[in-house]
Amino acid sequence: YDDRDGKIWMDGQLVDWRDANVHILTHALHYASSVFEGERLYDGKIFLSRKHSERLLKSGEMMDMPIPYSVDEIEAAKQAVVEANDLTNAYVRVVAWRGAGEDMGVSSAKNPVRMAVAAWAWGDYYGDAKMKGAKLDIAKWKRPSPETIPTAAKAAGLYMICTMSKHAAEAKGCSDALFMDYRGYVAEATGANVFFVKDGEVHTPLPDAILNGLTRQTVIGMLKEKGITVHERYIMPEELADFEQCWLTGSAAEVTPVGQIGDYMFEVGALTRDISESYEKLVRS
Ligand code: PMP
Repeated sequence: YDDRDGKIWMDGQLVDWRDANVHILTHALHYASSVFEGERLYDGKIFLSRKHSERLLKSGEMMDMPIPYSVDEIEAAKQAVVEANDLTNAYVRVVAWRGAGEDMGVSSAKNPVRMAVAAWAWGDYYGDAKMKGAKLDIAKWKRPSPETIPTAAKAAGLYMICTMSKHAAEAKGCSDALFMDYRGYVAEATGANVFFVKDGEVHTPLPDAILNGLTRQTVIGMLKEKGITVHERYIMPEELADFEQCWLTGSAAEVTPVGQIGDYMFEVGALTRDISESYEKLVRS
């Protein structure tokens, strides 16, 4: 991704793609002092753009890393990147981090908080899974307790076990991994929330130790509007055997059907298709 034409917004200005670099003593590189957002641009408009910018600022606050930009300034930066790269459908990545500075120990209070925005064309997150359903592994790591790390933040440190779990999944021919949380309940995938269907009703984990995804919230709203009962509750891993359908939600993943988790099989059923299509319509409306 680094050697190509294009413009990236960095600390207030557009720079050439190849020049959007940081120093090796960047605090974030050593201590994961970084928060980010993943968003999608549809037909020239970023879906839930302001909500993503607000979440970025909240993630910064939760990580004791106040971001020196307002929501309006972040919105303007994203717009500038979309225009400079002439994009109409794309993935947008906003990242804020503690840079290099006076501190190179664990403390970073004196180091500047920096921000960058990049955007690029990115197709389906799970390849052809939208048609036949993604195959998921069960992660060996657990989503941590909110007393261990601010689990509501979209922060780099939370993704270390995601990358490890995704690598293990890919080695087994799966496209992602499903995590349990520190209590053993079903939690989320490495970059997406999970939903299940049984007897025409929908079940999804309570968002008390996972990222309460913006897509998750949107899909719950869509289901309720369609008159479908949604149970936000603790889900035991044994229950995977009872569910008929399953899908993942995320800004990158959108609504992706799941065909298999470990040894449990799911059908890509009518409700899954309906929600996936309704979401596609909504993001472009
Ligand atoms: N959980 C994790 C761990 C994620 O990385 C993401 C993607 N941001 C989500 C859930 C879904 O969040 P959203 O719908 O806001 O993209």
